[in-house]
Amino acid sequence: MVLTAAKRRIGTVATAVGLVAALGGVVFGIAQLSGGSGASSTATGPGSASVAGAWVSGGPVAPTSQWTVPATPSQPPTSQAYSTQAPETGEGLGAGGSASSTGATQPEAGRTFAGATVSLAGRVVALDPGHTPSGGSSRQVPDGRGGMKACNTSGTATDAGYPEHAFNYDVAVRAQALLEARGATVHLSRGDSATEVVCVDERGKFADTVGAELLVSIHGDGNTDRSVKGFFAIVSGAPLNAAQGEPSVELANAVLLRLREAGFTQNSAYSGGISRRSDIAGVAFSTKPVVMFELGEMRNPEEAALMSSPEGRQRYAEAVAAGIGDWLIAHPAGA
Ligand SMILES: [Zn+2]
Repeated sequence: MVLTAAKRRIGTVATAVGLVAALGGVVFGIAQLSGGSGASSTATGPGSASVAGAWVSGGPVAPTSQWTVPATPSQPPTSQAYSTQAPETGEGLGAGGSASSTGATQPEAGRTFAGATVSLAGRVVALDPGHTPSGGSSRQVPDGRGGMKACNTSGTATDAGYPEHAFNYDVAVRAQALLEARGATVHLSRGDSATEVVCVDERGKFADTVGAELLVSIHGDGNTDRSVKGFFAIVSGAPLNAAQGEPSVELANAVLLRLREAGFTQNSAYSGGISRRSDIAGVAFSTKPVVMFELGEMRNPEEAALMSSPEGRQRYAEAVAAGIGDWLIAHPAGA
């Protein structure tokens, strides 16, 4: 059964690529941590699976210097720390909303982060790399709001043919390594098998399935207007439970802030970088805070180059992992 196959992969996705990245993170973490947390102890666990492929052959790059600014490691930020971007109140379903993206590209001076080296030991994260190498499936599954929709779509690709599923998976594996280097447990909703199919309803339930505290779905967008660029987040436009409301918006803002600070462009079509939609099963099913990120536009030449390069994907992964870490620190387990 498909879900069984997916579960079997859980915990085995530490790859040669990820392990190298994790080791880099450990070395870095040791250099930065003042106290001896358990962060490094879980990062060097056995990881024998290999997912080396044409698109990951370049290998990871070491975490960049942006990770070296833990302002006050002993004082985690409050949730207010990244809630300065007022969420838009309308349904940001389509493009063409307010084009305002106030502050989108400006580093926010004076901000304090706990830093990317604070231990996340004991915390559990679910990552969902969108789509699969096996392509879409029209099999109808529940959409989480009483209707039905296709199991999965095939995703987009760059004009040169680099597929979205490969981008999503590679960024997820890199983010997993970075978070695990800090002590977190990270589950991925799928591997990179050519035959595996994981439907959107399973993905939406994935945080609950594995006992994770949050669910982040990783995608690249495929706007056919090649002038369009930039990342944005998708949250539940009509929350079906409390977790899909403010906690999810806070999670979105935490990662969006890290993406902005890493120098990525924010899509100007969505005020605050957040799109609220009610047609995403991968969001509707979750009872844990859940956000889908469109990290870039794969048809835009500039972002296609970035997303096709291992160095670019490492930067995306660092921002995603750092934002998730910020959110976890601001939301103590069980709180
Ligand atoms: Zn996608």
